[in-house]
Amino acid sequence: MVRSPALPAGRTRADKARRTLSILGATGSIGRSTADVVLQHRDAFDVEVVTAQSRVDELAEMAIQLGARLAVIGDVTRLESLRERLAGTGIAVDAGPAAIVEAASRPVDLVVAAIVGAAGLEPTLAAIDAGADIALANKECMVCAGALFNRRAAAASVRVLPVDSEHDAIFQSLEANNLRAVERITITASGGPFRTATLDEMRRATPAQALKHPRWAMGPKISIDSATMMNKGLELIEAHHLFDIESARLDVLVHPQSVVHGFVTYADGSVIAQLGAADMRIPISHCLNWPRRAETATPRLDLAALGTLTFEKPDLERFPALSIARTALENGDWATNILNAANEVAVAAFLDGTIEFLEIAATVEAVLERATATVGGTVLDTVEAVLALDGEGRRLAAERIEFRGRRAS
Ligand code: NAD
Ligand code: MG
Repeated sequence: MVRSPALPAGRTRADKARRTLSILGATGSIGRSTADVVLQHRDAFDVEVVTAQSRVDELAEMAIQLGARLAVIGDVTRLESLRERLAGTGIAVDAGPAAIVEAASRPVDLVVAAIVGAAGLEPTLAAIDAGADIALANKECMVCAGALFNRRAAAASVRVLPVDSEHDAIFQSLEANNLRAVERITITASGGPFRTATLDEMRRATPAQALKHPRWAMGPKISIDSATMMNKGLELIEAHHLFDIESARLDVLVHPQSVVHGFVTYADGSVIAQLGAADMRIPISHCLNWPRRAETATPRLDLAALGTLTFEKPDLERFPALSIARTALENGDWATNILNAANEVAVAAFLDGTIEFLEIAATVEAVLERATATVGGTVLDTVEAVLALDGEGRRLAAERIEFRGRRAS
């Protein structure tokens, strides 16, 4: 049966006039869009915590603007500089990964999980354990620990509201509908910067070309994931865990205009979709205000000006990441954990010029193949098990990248 994250958990917090919230990964693309949404409705939100990894200036500025109580920087060497910038403001400061986890567990209504990568797992779980609802942008923490993540959320009876635009679209298309009558869920994909590129062009693609997304302005990691379409693979896995629906009933459809973000096909043939401008402030605002809706300063859709919306099947030959991710989803949590770890390492290696673009998916595939024999079937029932397997995936990916690098030189 399809599960909606909106199922009532019997609490009334969602009806509070003012909500308290913390933003993990506040200086990133999602973090900054979240700040925008909050600043437009200053009286609706109290910000408790903002965190970032290394950008002290932006973190301090944001903490002041949002009136946060605590600012935490991941890189401990920058604590002094954060302290200087916030001196006299009354905003407390802290530093280091453990401090981020501790800050994430401060009592608030909602935590925006906007850290990139598996690094967001522990802080997000801490927020769940502390009883905060989660506005989830950080899909990797779902991909590396799916079932465990859901168990922890259920145990704490917190809601996981999907910020990812496609999942927020599905969330909106599910609301007020009969969940048992859901036949299929479809998430759309822009196709990324290489939608019409040849394999040869893709082989020679530079980081600058791959980072240039046609529709969305996003952080570097997700931008590369969009270029390989691994992002859509991660989103299939995310959708499986968010909506409790199996791979066979999950579809990906390429839709270059990024107007229809996702849709649900019901048993009677009705299709309910969510449409909107390609602006993350829309799904963020939906999650922050849910079940209410608030005004946003985002562009409005002008369908007449657009004229045409087009759709096409994804090309699995040029975008193998999509099939690799689907197979991992079907193989279980250990496989999606390895997939995510290898992908994080491969994306970083492409960005620093160590490997070619097509080697990203090839690395992930090779690592999964090797891991099947050694760690296939590993049960991920604790965070320690999740992080240990993630470490193994990273090790195997680094090993393959180094081996091929040596052969090439
Ligand atoms: P980004 O790179 O712009 O920002 C990442 C944030 O995380 C920054 O604040 C950074 O300081 C922090 N961070 C990075 N490494 C960290 C670490 N090791 N420990 C603690 N904090 C760390 O990324 P983004 O584009 O905002 O994406 C964030 C997440 O949201 C990703 O999981 C991405 O897939 C997801 N997402 C993003 C978009 C988008 O439009 N940008 C859309 C959907 C989903
Ligand atoms: Mg998305």
